[in-house]
Amino acid sequence: MQYRTRFAPSPSGLLHVGNAYSALYCARWAEQHQAELLLRIEDIDHTRCRAEFAEHIITDLHWLGLSWPQPVRYQSQCLAAYQEALLELKNMAVVYPCFCTRKDIQQEINRMPSAPQAESSAPIYPGTCRNLDFNQQQQRMKHEPYAWRLDVQKALTKAGENLSWQDGSGKRYPAQIDHDIVIGRKDISFSYHLSVVVDDAEQHISHIIRGEDLRDSTGIHRLLQELLQKPEPVYIHHALLCEANGSKLSKRDGSVSLQSLRLMGVDAQKLHAFLNHATPLSWPFTQARAADILDILGN
Ligand code: GLU
Repeated sequence: MQYRTRFAPSPSGLLHVGNAYSALYCARWAEQHQAELLLRIEDIDHTRCRAEFAEHIITDLHWLGLSWPQPVRYQSQCLAAYQEALLELKNMAVVYPCFCTRKDIQQEINRMPSAPQAESSAPIYPGTCRNLDFNQQQQRMKHEPYAWRLDVQKALTKAGENLSWQDGSGKRYPAQIDHDIVIGRKDISFSYHLSVVVDDAEQHISHIIRGEDLRDSTGIHRLLQELLQKPEPVYIHHALLCEANGSKLSKRDGSVSLQSLRLMGVDAQKLHAFLNHATPLSWPFTQARAADILDILGN
């Protein structure tokens, strides 16, 4: 079987060295396993993504020495596929309209005697709209904006309670999903979770390689795959490249963008070697002057 993986950046900003580490990790894995590496541009969020960032991302990846089969999949061109998947979930009655704003959710959580805690920073949805009856839903849908949420308990009952996912060594982990997640957003129609599950299946991705920060999404993706009868890929989560003080690199910090490194004259091969051998896995140049960076990574 031909293995296939993908690098799937969101063009909401320029790529930074942490993204470069991730792309090179995927490329190295693909080379070691004679796998195909695809590029996918995850530009479904039109409130944050911009076409010019997608162009810069492609330029930066070429500079890094990466290549991929054409055509590149752009999520913004695949909306019909996501619409179809959302319709399937609606027909299975495992989603419900949710009218809550962020403020409503926070107020509801504050009212609860023991508030549920999410692993991630987003608050756990307390289920406010889960039990609205059909008439209430229909009435409110006429006048209020709404998102579609997955009723996780119902979905698990349909898909099988013992869902799990598999890592690269064959070890299995329980699919943990801590609350009713949004599948269709108020502002952009589809969530990241729904679109990646559809894309990975349509692109026949056998191995999903991505940062450790997305590990918590894996259970959700497995659940959606079961509901939509999509094949199960293997998941490999790599550690994240951080700043020297351990904090997360940010797209907002221009000094670590690949574009700025390229324009200041960093040598892509030296950057590869540095990222391949970085121990601990950190980028020590966040505050450094260009001359200091070029001393180590320049031609
Ligand atoms: N688009 C996501 C990101 O840029 C990656 C999604 C994935 O690999 O599943 O963080």
